[in-house]
Amino acid sequence: MTDTIRVAVPVPLPTLFDYLPPTGGPAPQPGCRCEVSFGNRRLVGLVWEAGQASTESGRLKRITRVLDEEPVLDPDLLALAQHAADYYHHPIGDVVATVLPVLLRQGESASVRGELFWTLTERGRFARPEDLTRAPRQREALSLLQQHPHGAPVAMTQALGIPRAALQALEKKGWVVLQEQLAQRPTPATLLSEVPLSASAEQSAAIQAIRTTRGFAPFLLEGVTGSGKTEVYLQAIAPLLEAGKQALVLVPEIGLTPQTVKRFEKRFNVPVVALHSGLTDKERLQGWVQAREGDAGIILGTRSAVFTPLAKPGLIIVDEAHDGSFKQQDGLRYSARDLAVWRARLLDIPVVLGSATPALETLQLAREGRYRQLRLTHRPGDAQPPTLKLEDTRTLRGDSPVSERSLAHIRGALERGEQALVFINRRGFAPLIRCQDCGWEAMCDRCSVRMTWHRSSQKLICHHCDSHKRVPAHCPACGSSALTDAGSGTEKVEQQLNTALKNKWPVIRIDRDSTRRKGSLDQALAQIQQGKPAVLVGTQMLAKGHHFRQLSVAIILEADASFLSADFRGPEHGSQLILQVAGRTGRHQTRGEVIIQSRHPELPLWPSLLSGDYRRVAEQLLEERQALGLPPFGYLALLRAESMHAAEGLQLLQQVADALPGSPVQVMGPVPAPLERRQGRFRYQLLFLGQTRPALHQQLSRALAALAEHPAARKCRWHLDVDPTDML
Ligand code: ADP
Ligand code: ZN
Ligand code: ZN
Repeated sequence: MTDTIRVAVPVPLPTLFDYLPPTGGPAPQPGCRCEVSFGNRRLVGLVWEAGQASTESGRLKRITRVLDEEPVLDPDLLALAQHAADYYHHPIGDVVATVLPVLLRQGESASVRGELFWTLTERGRFARPEDLTRAPRQREALSLLQQHPHGAPVAMTQALGIPRAALQALEKKGWVVLQEQLAQRPTPATLLSEVPLSASAEQSAAIQAIRTTRGFAPFLLEGVTGSGKTEVYLQAIAPLLEAGKQALVLVPEIGLTPQTVKRFEKRFNVPVVALHSGLTDKERLQGWVQAREGDAGIILGTRSAVFTPLAKPGLIIVDEAHDGSFKQQDGLRYSARDLAVWRARLLDIPVVLGSATPALETLQLAREGRYRQLRLTHRPGDAQPPTLKLEDTRTLRGDSPVSERSLAHIRGALERGEQALVFINRRGFAPLIRCQDCGWEAMCDRCSVRMTWHRSSQKLICHHCDSHKRVPAHCPACGSSALTDAGSGTEKVEQQLNTALKNKWPVIRIDRDSTRRKGSLDQALAQIQQGKPAVLVGTQMLAKGHHFRQLSVAIILEADASFLSADFRGPEHGSQLILQVAGRTGRHQTRGEVIIQSRHPELPLWPSLLSGDYRRVAEQLLEERQALGLPPFGYLALLRAESMHAAEGLQLLQQVADALPGSPVQVMGPVPAPLERRQGRFRYQLLFLGQTRPALHQQLSRALAALAEHPAARKCRWHLDVDPTDML
């Protein structure tokens, strides 16, 4: 009988695998990577734990090679990975692959080959250059290093013409060493590099609450747009940095702009590491190592940064915590917001979720007292909250999406020297083209959706699979040339504004198409920041986080589409978006004016939305959710199947449904997904709604067991989404 080692292997199977320790060396520690053979492949696995001695051990393979001397994942990250595997019912090996940076997954070394530095030893620091009268080169080298207490890169000594022999002579004396180290900034004398703003009473209360807490404590920092949440983060972080600890700050995908990074860099004299999707694998690994070694004081990152190792964790912040980009929509479908809270619990540190429009789930936890509430109800100074007005646009013509009244407001702002914004959450020119004679509509061949007409690129584009088509000159069904478009997107709004304003003022369009070129978004934002009168037209890329000082008018188009969506979260997301857009206005002197154009002025949500008070909206929505037993009053999961032949996925889900008891967890379906076909595959789903989490998880385990028994499960694609945010 031999002891075994349990290894997480990156394969889509929900178990750990037993191996024998490598020949020779000691048993590797949990968290170290190792090379194992699996089937006829060699894979990089992660040592999970020591296994039980077993009588079958004789048939086990040996670990081929251990890749790390020190674990690459600390116990807290191993525990987080275990939690994610359990909670999302996801294969542990695949969870580990999500947690590790790409290069580590591929087996690269986890020590970043830093630069080589000549550094003084303790003795060298007190040696007197004057004593080296007979070795002028050594004297020169010693003086140089004494001026650079953190070492001089080899490249620098070479550039200054210091001979290597002189440095080696000093090395023999025990005065200097040649070391590999990360390029480090010298430790500054002071932590703060700018004076903090003087905090308002509400900000002070929030800062104090976070600063004085010990151990795990989740906070909801609910502050209206422009109320200065970032200042709260900065001042809450300061004493931690002073104590040598680190802060992990998660921001939404579009929130991680150079401006955001600068705001943190400007305040403190500590290295800030930014982890985002624009990095190369190497840069990402380097940031990861700097966080892990404790070189970085602040780690700013998008969703996946929740898995960044921290040498001295002090605080976790999730900014704009309601943002949809914190949820991963493929592979391990995790919520970085929820894992951030879980991680803070494992690390026994505070976590702050900041938002002007918190998700109903978060708000409910705060209402139940499970999250501590911190509120910022005012903007600093005398900035007023914007006024919101509804405009009934049922009679508006299709080719002029912006109403006359809205145009008058836009002109007013421009003539006062201010900026205006038109928000429409759809790019392209028009969401459909249709034949006026036979009713034909341009549909995607692979998805059950209409194609969007992009007039600037003269294409029809599917927004779900990105496939392109030429715009037909005649109807493919009846040959008629009476093709017409309907509805609007950013391009049509841009065109209407250019015509209406006679090109007197610039119209700046910001959407995924206009910002495809690297740097073009920053360029457009910089133009806006100059503050000259202009109209901005954009999608939700414009709605979040930006601070436009000169913006006084916002026009919101087609906002009610989400209120009528098949997704029960539509009204929540739509309201958040409207209030976020509204919050971009009136940051400076003039009070912001917001006009919401709607073809459904009768919807019951409008009165509370127009008050601008998100709490009122949220309470109304929470009541509806409670009545229906939907989240946060019930717990949801979606099992989706996708197959080339409709019957396969449907049958698979039907068999799973048949194998399950119908209570206490409701199992609904299988039904076609609202988006029935995507990328050529038919989509079906089975919805689970439980009244408690444990009951839901038990049912999910049963479902997955039933699924595994079916040969069809290997033919279709399927996935489980726990706490789904995308119901389509
Ligand atoms: P939020 O993230 O809550 O929308 P920000 O943190 O971007 O708001 O702050 C909005 C603006 O208010 C920023 O320009 C910020 O510099 C300013 N601000 C924040 N706190 C104060 C304060 N205490 N005194 C003066 N200005 C402040
Ligand atoms: Zn036709
Ligand atoms: Zn498509």
